[in-house]
Amino acid sequence: MVKICCIGAGYVGGPTMAMIALKCPSIEVAVVDISVPRINAWNSDQLPIYEPGLDEVVKQCRGKNLFFSTDVEKHVAEADIVFVSVNTPTKTRGLGAGKAADLTYWESAARMIADVSKSDKIVVEKSTVPVKTAEAIEKILSHNSKGINFQILSNPEFLAEGTAIQDLISPDRVLIGGRETPGGQKAIQALKEVYAHWVPEDRILATNLWSAELSKLAANAFLAQRISSVNAMSALCEATGADVYQVSHAVGMDTRIGPKFLNASVGFGGSCFQKDILNLVYICECNGLPEVANYWKQVISMNDYQKNRFVNRVVASMFNTVSGKKIAVLGFAFKKDTGDTRETPAIDVCKGLLGDKACLSIYDPQVNEDQIQRDLSMNKFDWDHPLHLQPMSPTSVKQVSVTWNAYEATKDAHGICILTEWDEFKTLDYQKIYDNMQKPAFVFDGRNVLNAAKLREIGFIVYSIGKPLDP
Ligand code: NAD
Repeated sequence: MVKICCIGAGYVGGPTMAMIALKCPSIEVAVVDISVPRINAWNSDQLPIYEPGLDEVVKQCRGKNLFFSTDVEKHVAEADIVFVSVNTPTKTRGLGAGKAADLTYWESAARMIADVSKSDKIVVEKSTVPVKTAEAIEKILSHNSKGINFQILSNPEFLAEGTAIQDLISPDRVLIGGRETPGGQKAIQALKEVYAHWVPEDRILATNLWSAELSKLAANAFLAQRISSVNAMSALCEATGADVYQVSHAVGMDTRIGPKFLNASVGFGGSCFQKDILNLVYICECNGLPEVANYWKQVISMNDYQKNRFVNRVVASMFNTVSGKKIAVLGFAFKKDTGDTRETPAIDVCKGLLGDKACLSIYDPQVNEDQIQRDLSMNKFDWDHPLHLQPMSPTSVKQVSVTWNAYEATKDAHGICILTEWDEFKTLDYQKIYDNMQKPAFVFDGRNVLNAAKLREIGFIVYSIGKPLDP
């Protein structure tokens, strides 16, 4: 029986390994992590992450061929294939601070693999890492003194949170990069055989190591760039009376462009887009390509601009001040169908409104109060000025309350900001909400999910991103 071990039981390690266990009953999969609470949660009915369909997959396999454990060394030692899916955040200090990927967790995992291995292993980069990381990993692993053969593969993950299970069942492609040596090619073949249990052969793509590593960064940069491009258009639409929905629909009908990922919004978020673009920027700079670095930097600048623009719109619309006004924030996660708040645009928007002394009442169906308060009290890292941190005053945090219901959040509010596109926000009783709000009642739809005409009929003053302003 082939044995797989995955180091890192997070948003990627958990679902990807659960899918391998589901589709490959002949493979034993152990997901290991140094975090005891995380592993306990994976072994309970309350999984540590919310992802539609994940519970069912885990329940079907857990205890049969899928195991979650904190005994990292034991499972690594026993495995034939070791995936490494640890976090690779942006460095916050030292060389490359604010841009470069922090590979501390990766390095410690690699050293541990070198120490405990007693048999040959394929080590798979599942985390998103800078191009050429495999070279560093090879150096670390080569210090294992037992003459063990390690083959490094890059197998970046392209799942999107909120649709992870569907993305894993039917991936656009599975990318496997390896050395162009006989050993490297044999390792690629072994990993291909795992995915071939359910992924059609023509969707499994083999490349060299550096292409695979760089492709993941490139894919995220391209996706984020599309969002920044349409958001840039949204500002121009508002200035000219064009409607961003109509523009992106017309643009997306061009088959060379395509319709996906062209929704204007308050900005992109999530743990990956910004971090991976910063990483790309850093790699460009290190390779003497400042113009290329500047090009990609603009994607992030536009995202910051969009979040600021939204805050300014709220304040300007509400007679140039939100001081002491109650604003209901509906949605805090960075997108629907996830409880993940990493780099969510809601953090910057809320901080911007708090900076003008608004009182916020926040509701998100999957994010609890502790998480929201923690996110809002954390310092934001300024990647352009790494030494300049923007502190969040404790008094601001007191201006925040968190509710478990959209009706409670909006009661007596002066305005509503929609910051996540949760489906339930589309079907709320907006007449009831309007009746219980201060007047004039404002709606700022940062995701363009509500029917603005209907809201206007009720009496709301409505701002939708990139759409003509209230008549
Ligand atoms: P995460 O923070 O949810 O999970 C990482 C886990 O690794 C944590 O539970 C942590 O405790 C564990 N860990 C760290 N060092 C360890 C060690 N030495 N031994 C054992 N466990 C260790 O991160 P994530 O969102 O799953 O992302 C993991 C990687 O995948 C990142 O590189 C990320 O960029 C990439 N990625 C993420 C997504 C996504 O949507 N979240 C998608 C594609 C790729």
